[in-house]
Formats: sequence, C-alpha cells, structure tokens
Amino acid sequence: MAAGTAITGAGFFDTASAAGSPSNDYKTDARAGSVGPRILLKGGIVLSLDKKVGDFEKADVLIEGKKIVAVGPNLKADAQVIDCSGTIVMPGFISTHHHQYEVLLRSLTTDAIHVRPIPADEEQPKAVWPLETYTTVVQEIWTPGRMPNPAAPGTPIWDLGRPPYDPEACYLAELVASLSQITQGITTSTDTSQSSHTPEYTDAMIKGLFDSGQRAVFAYSPGTDRSAQFPDQPYEWPGRSGDASFGLGRLAKTYFSSRDQLVTLGAWADWKPVVDPKTRQTQNYTGWQLAREFGALINNHAAHGQMVRDMAAEPRNGTDWSDVTLVHCNLWQDEPVAQIGVNNVKSRAWQILSERGGHASIAPLIEMQMRHGMPPFQLCLNYGILPSLSPDIEANMTANPFSLMRGAYTLQRALANDLVYPLSDPNRLPVPQLVSSRQVIEMMTIAGAAGSGLLDKVGTLTPGKEADIVVLDANTINTAPMNNVPGTIVTLMESRNVRDVLIAGKIVYRQGKLVGWDVDKLVRDINRARDRVLARINGPALVGKLPQGLNSKSNPYRPNFMDSNGYKGQNTTAPEYVLRP
Ligand SMILES: [Zn+2]
Repeated sequence: MAAGTAITGAGFFDTASAAGSPSNDYKTDARAGSVGPRILLKGGIVLSLDKKVGDFEKADVLIEGKKIVAVGPNLKADAQVIDCSGTIVMPGFISTHHHQYEVLLRSLTTDAIHVRPIPADEEQPKAVWPLETYTTVVQEIWTPGRMPNPAAPGTPIWDLGRPPYDPEACYLAELVASLSQITQGITTSTDTSQSSHTPEYTDAMIKGLFDSGQRAVFAYSPGTDRSAQFPDQPYEWPGRSGDASFGLGRLAKTYFSSRDQLVTLGAWADWKPVVDPKTRQTQNYTGWQLAREFGALINNHAAHGQMVRDMAAEPRNGTDWSDVTLVHCNLWQDEPVAQIGVNNVKSRAWQILSERGGHASIAPLIEMQMRHGMPPFQLCLNYGILPSLSPDIEANMTANPFSLMRGAYTLQRALANDLVYPLSDPNRLPVPQLVSSRQVIEMMTIAGAAGSGLLDKVGTLTPGKEADIVVLDANTINTAPMNNVPGTIVTLMESRNVRDVLIAGKIVYRQGKLVGWDVDKLVRDINRARDRVLARINGPALVGKLPQGLNSKSNPYRPNFMDSNGYKGQNTTAPEYVLRP
C-alpha cells in the first residue's frame, strides 16, 4: 500500500501493484476450441431468424470449417456431434456500440448522469468538477487525466501529463470486455474506445480484440492529443487522405487489408472537414470521406437531431448511408415534444436516416439511466427502421444482451401501454403497436449484423454464412417448462442460460466455460491494471490540484466504494423518505 494516500480497505484497491506489469498471455491452450472439420449441433429448437430457412421445433445445424452448410431436421454427416436437445440454437447476439476500454471502470459512475448543455436544467448547468458526472469522472479524470478549465479554455486546471491508462490497461480492458461478452452470448461487438492517445494505445486495443476471438468492428476513435506539449506522445487520429503511414490509413494497411477476418475496421468519423493531426490545418475532405477511403464503417454518436441535419447538409458525406450507424439517436424530434413516438411526432433527422439507408443503435439502459433523452424506439420504428441494441458503457451498466433486450421490450411497451388510459393521456394520442419478443431478438441479431456491415456473414443461421451461434439451455430451473421460444429468451433467460458459443465455427464457450482461457489470471490482472490507473490519478499532477468531489471521500480522487460513487442526484422535490419496518 502506497504511503500518504487516503486509500482504505486494502483488498480491492492496491496501489502497490503500480510497479507490476501483467503478463499478456492468458491462453491456456492456443488450439483450444479447434475441432474437426465438421460440427453437427443436433436436436435443438432452431431459431434461424431467416425466413427462407425457417425455424424448427427440432432440427440440426451442420457447420463445416467457419461456415454453416445446412440447417434442417435429421441431418446426416460425418461430424463431431454436439447434443442440443433441450436447447435453443440461434444466431449469436450482436451489439453495435460499446466503449470497451471502460471495462476497467466498471460500476465507477453507477449513479452518475451524463452532462448535456440544457440551460433550463439547473441540476446540471455545466460539466464542471466537483459535479461528479460521467463527463468529469470518466472522460476527464480516468481517461485523459486532464481536466479543462471552463474559465480559460485550452488551459487545464489539472493535468497528469499523460493518460492514467497505459497501453497494457487498454489491452486488458478490450480482452476482458470481449471475453465477458462471449460468456453472455454476444458474438460481435463494435468497440468505440476513445483511447487512441498514441499509436501504441491503438495497437494495444486492436491486439486485445484480435486475441479475444470475438468478432468485432474496431471503430477508431479519438484520444487525448498531447503531441504539442509532449513529442514522445505522437497523435495520429484520424489520419490523412492518401497516407497509409499513420492514423486510419496505417490501421487499414497494417491490420485490415483482408475482410476475411474476425476484426474489421470502423471509425468514429467527423462529418465535418478533417483537421490534420500533424499540421492542424483544416482539410478539403470530411471524416466520413476519410473513413470511406480506407474502407471503414462509420459509427458515430448523434445525440440530437440538429447533428443529423448537419451531417446531411454536407454534400461530401453522400446520400448512401448504408455504411453509417448513428448511436444514441435521442432528441431527434423537430418540435419540443415528449418523444413517446406517436404518429404526430415528426422528425427530419429520422427521415434522413431512413431515406439514406443508415442504421440506428439504441443503448436503452444507459440512455434511460444517464438522461440522454428517451430511447427512441418508437420514432425509429415509425420511420421504418429496426434499431440495433448496444450497451454503450460498463462504467455504469451491464453489456448483458438479455438485459438490453428486456430494456428495449419493456420500455417501448410501457410508453405505449400508458397511452391506453385516459387518466394518463387525456388528449387521446394514438397508441403505437407493441413490440414483440421476436422483434427485439431481431434487434439484437439481424439489425446488429446490418449495422456492423456484416449481414452477409452473420446475424441469421443461413447456409453460407459464418457459424456465429449461441446454444441456450432452456431446460433449466428459471425457464422450464417452456411454452414460447422468443418469450423465453427475452422475458426469462439470463447469462446462465448461455451453454455454448461458437464464433466462425470455433467453439469459444462450452458448457458455461470459456475455452482455453485462464480467467482467474485475467481477473487478477484487470484488478491490478485498475490499481495502476488509480495510483497514477493519485500521483502528482503537472498542473493544479484535483479538488475533492462530491462523492470522492479523499483528496485526491478515489472512487467512493461503499456509497453512491457518481453524481448523487439528490431528490429535492420529494420529502425525505422514512424506512418503515
Ligand atoms: Zn457511446
């Protein structure tokens, strides 16, 4: 335990490990999960989600190498047979937006809200420390280690001189995030880790994704640019048109020259003209053009309607947005009106996305929790778009796909159901159609594949596609007896029902266990990586002194471990409640 810090309760926080560096070899067997040339998943309930293939109360799925070759009853093949009786065999879940680097910050801002500049909201006038929000805690203290001074832009009030994470911490966060998702049945993720502080960080994150064995889109995102102050911290996001030596061009050439691999390239891309990271001159091409030049999908936050209208007003961004996924599509309505999504709510932003063939990713739980605005399921559906689902951040919410599906399902239905009652809806607004369990399963599979540019490869159990498959145990104490398949998945199942997971025909999770990974070592090292980051935050800053926050019990900062560790959001509009025995 380092002297002089206010850290208490050794066991969860250990700054002594700051000197250590974890090994990055967590594989117990490099060939684990590899099987013979053919696998036959035998006798399960098969939910192919492909109308042409159909669904079956009892059928088999034959896999050869990476691909599905047949789906149907009573298949005969010389293959390794996996008994799937009593299970549901279906496409792996796909999430389309996840800041995986934040896995190191799990539960860090449990009660925090986001900060958005809404002047009328006196609870969050500015994202300024010591108001502890997602912005100040995660995006200023833990990610860049630099807190801007709102009174003097460009001059930090506190600065560690480097990001608290090291590349190893980024690597571990990616690896643990992806492996954790595999245990929950998520076979594809889009990673938007805003930690490309230097090329070394970017390379470490990409390595984490590749090593995990999960399918992923690496959406290259900005980090903290300290290159002007520190030449040993070069900055290369987003890159330069025609230049394969740094930024997006370097990544495309180094890692993504083939599409026939599990990790593909995306970008958090500016819809405005790019500012060159070296010359700092504004270029004559947009970030979207740069992404497309290097074959990267576009995966952008678009958290209000004006942003979408601005994207569309830039002619260089084109009118075919089939390679674009917009995330957090809240507050896209044209008029100030609660977006319960009934037919009379108009939105040019949704119209634009619909007409241009773009995709929407909704993070239902985070958007509800963090005050992004209402998750826009109904508006999205009203404009003919099936959204995909995403966890966004594990700093304050799970990535569990069952939780995401249940969140989507119950929220859309709650809003629609409330309109049925005159007492709640005296103006008799039209009541939208309720979403079904099957529709939210399609959000978590087919829509996710489309939004990841991978619908030709995954998302349904279709012969010719790659075998990304989850086998869900349905003969369990929390689901039996099963009387409806989609309903069992969406309304009853949990991670413990995930029995087996295959990615590109390889068994990566079998009988409730990751195949070929030293999970204990991973957990030990992710804890140590967190401790190293925390030790750096507690270290001396180059500039300023971090003030004590509302929820931090020490100065300098450390998380409040046992109480609310985010902005408390104390309720001043209701009387203090009394616990009644
Ligand atoms: Zn996000």
